[in-house]
Amino acid sequence: MRCFWDERQRSHAPAAEFFNGELHPAAEHQGRVDAILGAIGSTEAPADYGIEPILRVHSRAYVDFLREAFAQWRSAGRDGDAFPYTFPIVGRRPLNFDRIDASLGHFSFDTSTPIGERTWDAAYWSVQTALAALDAVLVGERAAFAFTRPPGHHAGRNYLGGYSYLNHAAICAEAALAAGKRSVAILDVDYHHGNGTQDIFAGREDVVFASIHADPRTDYPFFWGHADESRGNILNLPLPRDTELAGYGDALTQALDWIERSRPRLLIVSYGADTHEADPISHFKLKTSDYAPMARRIASLGVPTLIVMEGGYAVDALGANVAAFLEGFE
Ligand SMILES: [Zn+2]
Repeated sequence: MRCFWDERQRSHAPAAEFFNGELHPAAEHQGRVDAILGAIGSTEAPADYGIEPILRVHSRAYVDFLREAFAQWRSAGRDGDAFPYTFPIVGRRPLNFDRIDASLGHFSFDTSTPIGERTWDAAYWSVQTALAALDAVLVGERAAFAFTRPPGHHAGRNYLGGYSYLNHAAICAEAALAAGKRSVAILDVDYHHGNGTQDIFAGREDVVFASIHADPRTDYPFFWGHADESRGNILNLPLPRDTELAGYGDALTQALDWIERSRPRLLIVSYGADTHEADPISHFKLKTSDYAPMARRIASLGVPTLIVMEGGYAVDALGANVAAFLEGFE
């Protein structure tokens, strides 16, 4: 399978995140890069598709904020990465403040997604990597893999969170529609609900979104991903902690049947390896050997497929998990 990656994605290097009440080493760290690159073999670097595909999904104000936030943080005399610490409650009227702390809270929903000196650069090239893999599928590849990092599925039109800054799955869905695909399906199989993707596409008729994830009553991102949010083009299939392949497979069958009924011309898979039993921040019980059969079932839809990388933090197992998933598409 053709795989895409840009070395500039490596430069995003968060030192820490707030987790379980303390400053904790960042789970989404650079060690994930070599784990995956070492397992997937050769990769192709993307062309530069520019800012326009990003602006089809994210607001100009949010993109400008992302580009400028770290410089503003430094101008305010701060060391280290930029973190938000105060947030507007849903329904508060929009206000514009000069102070970086207000902007950080305005455009973020958690404290685990810091902005460092190279975050914009890495997130921008991660998008270009996804668009290059999409291009490969649009010109005839049955499937292609974009090693997108940092991840994307928690990022909404005007917010970051969950280690995500720009939403690759959404940007590629919009790019595919702009290129003439009439209908796109997104299947999210990360451990966590893809809240950003859901928010971006809720109510649309040309994109359907199905997500299999940990029940948000017990797991991040808590405020999205509940079963009763399923309506129209959205299908949420929350599963309890400790789910193994048997329970997971039932949900996958349901998601694939639902997706098939929308007759998509392109499938985008948000793949997270944090469903693995060894993942340090997640609680499913999938094994490395489960990923190839899982991928084969997705491939059996027979729809051209772009795979983008989301989470996966068990670094020792990460390469094998990604390789097994991609092997299922061969
Ligand atoms: Zn995740």
